Amino acid sequence: MENKKIIIIGSGPAGLTAAIYAARANLSPIVFEGFQAGGQLTMTTDVENFPGFPEGVQGPQLMDMLREQAKRFGAECIMKNVDSIDFDNYPYTLQVGKQYYKTFSVIIATGASAKLLDIEGEENLMGRGLSTCATCDGFFYKDKQIHVIGGGDSAMEEAIFLTKFASKVTIVHRRSKLRASKIMEDRARSNPKIEFMFNYSPIKFLSSSSGVLDGIELKNNQDSTIKNVKSDGVFVAIGHNPNTEIFKDSVEIDTNGYINTFNKSSKTSVKGVFACGDVQDSVYRQAITAAGSGCMAAIDAERFLEEGLTE
Ligand code: NAP
Repeated sequence: MENKKIIIIGSGPAGLTAAIYAARANLSPIVFEGFQAGGQLTMTTDVENFPGFPEGVQGPQLMDMLREQAKRFGAECIMKNVDSIDFDNYPYTLQVGKQYYKTFSVIIATGASAKLLDIEGEENLMGRGLSTCATCDGFFYKDKQIHVIGGGDSAMEEAIFLTKFASKVTIVHRRSKLRASKIMEDRARSNPKIEFMFNYSPIKFLSSSSGVLDGIELKNNQDSTIKNVKSDGVFVAIGHNPNTEIFKDSVEIDTNGYINTFNKSSKTSVKGVFACGDVQDSVYRQAITAAGSGCMAAIDAERFLEEGLTE
């Protein structure tokens, strides 16, 4: 089995930017793209905040361009999931289906997935009035009446951000007490455009005849009555799950499941293993910050490979 210099796991903006830099450094990276190649951006439509695209760019198109750029310099992109990794023995071994790959360094860029409600209409209406990212899609809701689902800091943050565009934002929370921090709750409560619907759980997203979101069917958790509300847009903000399933026993993660990186670098707790993008970032979670951290990871990996595994 040939030893690879670098294997990148994940193909969002972080993984593909790492691939561009690693390929240009002649490290011949392999990128395991996963089954949803391109990551979360492939689920969005217009991306208007990625620098360099004054007219905006479609999320899937941006990811195709990044992939082509990485391939042009020799990155090999494989649309497969990594099943397991052995970080106990060096070079490290990755299992991909029935195949094994040995590598001197690994960049983890597996991203995070927005938690979803898993209710009727959710899958079909995603991107058609239903979103999980206010920063990405808020702009499309100028003067609209929208709803945010969730009662944590993410929901408060999304709702406050959305008041820049919407005429009214209603936060729908399943309990009567918010989970959000006091400061975020206070900010949301004092915002004149924000209203609350407590003790309601969405049970169905309603579609118009043209196939866009029209409203939400809600259940009152106190008396079990059902009520339909009209909505121009719904943002599901019930948290994110970093995709760390195969690393969580071998790489240090924080209490929310995100990979810890150290000393303002992409270095993880395992030598020669670097992390970038949303899998290590619960704060910014933007395509451009993910791309920036992918660049950092490739540079850190290149320096590590020059020095070799010490001790
Ligand atoms: P979170 O704290 O886990 O809150 C998730 C919210 O969604 C909870 O209110 C929960 O309801 C609700 N929820 C979960 N599953 C649901 C379902 N199936 N149906 C309806 N509601 C559901 O997640 P988060 O808000 O993303 O925050 C995660 C971490 O990041 C926290 O530590 C937070 O402080 C941090 N964060 C900080 C900031 C900031 O400070 N600016 C911004 C964002 C996130 P229950 O309350 O009933 O469980």
